[in-house]
Amino acid sequence: MKSIINKITAALLPLILVFGLAACSDVKTADKAVLTSFYPVYLIAERLVEGTDISLMNMARPQTGCLHDYQLTSLDMRLLSKSKAVIINGAGMEHSFIERAVENTGIKVIDSSDGLFGTEGEAVGHEEAFHSHDGHDHELNSHIWMSLKMAKAQAENICAGLIGLYPQYKKELESNKELFLADIASLEKLEDSENEGGEFNVISFNEAFHYLLEENGAFITAEIEIDENVTPTARELAEMTDSAGSLNVKAVFCADDNGRVFAETVGRELDIPVYILDPLTYTVSSDDYIKAMERNILTVSEAKNR
Ligand SMILES: [Zn+2]
Repeated sequence: MKSIINKITAALLPLILVFGLAACSDVKTADKAVLTSFYPVYLIAERLVEGTDISLMNMARPQTGCLHDYQLTSLDMRLLSKSKAVIINGAGMEHSFIERAVENTGIKVIDSSDGLFGTEGEAVGHEEAFHSHDGHDHELNSHIWMSLKMAKAQAENICAGLIGLYPQYKKELESNKELFLADIASLEKLEDSENEGGEFNVISFNEAFHYLLEENGAFITAEIEIDENVTPTARELAEMTDSAGSLNVKAVFCADDNGRVFAETVGRELDIPVYILDPLTYTVSSDDYIKAMERNILTVSEAKNR
């Protein structure tokens, strides 16, 4: 009996060795594997890890959009478990489901919104970040990457988090961050030159545009958030067009999504143009944060100066 066991062990030994080594090299790759929760965070983090061995992967599928009502899939859980760290947008976007999922796993969470909001909801560069739903319910507007000021802070937070994990890449991470911040600084100059003068009134069909419009001199008189499950009622649309007349609303903004058809209805009704902005949440629309934001800034400017 014993000799049979010995024989089996001897026969299995090469296999054990092979799989053991494979496991080791897995560990080695996992050590450099960093996950981002969804696309805007990926776009910023991607700029920072250039020239390092950090392998960045995005968790949410390209068509997912924002993560407001998101639930982790088993594929997400597998990706998470193979990662050393996960970079999240924060500011309520992931509703802490990622923190819960990685609890006691040793996987580090880098929150790109660290320090961005005060206890009263005041945000960096913005008087307040709360918005209301149906006139009563207040929640944080978590689309912080759509603000240049906040995107800078996101880059700082992501950079610091990655340096904590990979001090060997401190030099690369910091110089990549400086390049990214310089690109943002030139976008801020563009904003300044394109948006001289006072505010102008607009309607938005996507709450992702809140900070972008605000930073570019647009005052949102009405905002309706559209998604797959919620479409505005005829009454809501009528109220929107009724109030817009007296407020001299100059433009309607929407994304190229389910909201577009409603935005176009309102635009026709008011005889004002509809402009498409990019929320940067879909891989199909943009692969470069700076270029996408530049297009957005120029679009708002076009609406203002037409
Ligand atoms: Zn959103």
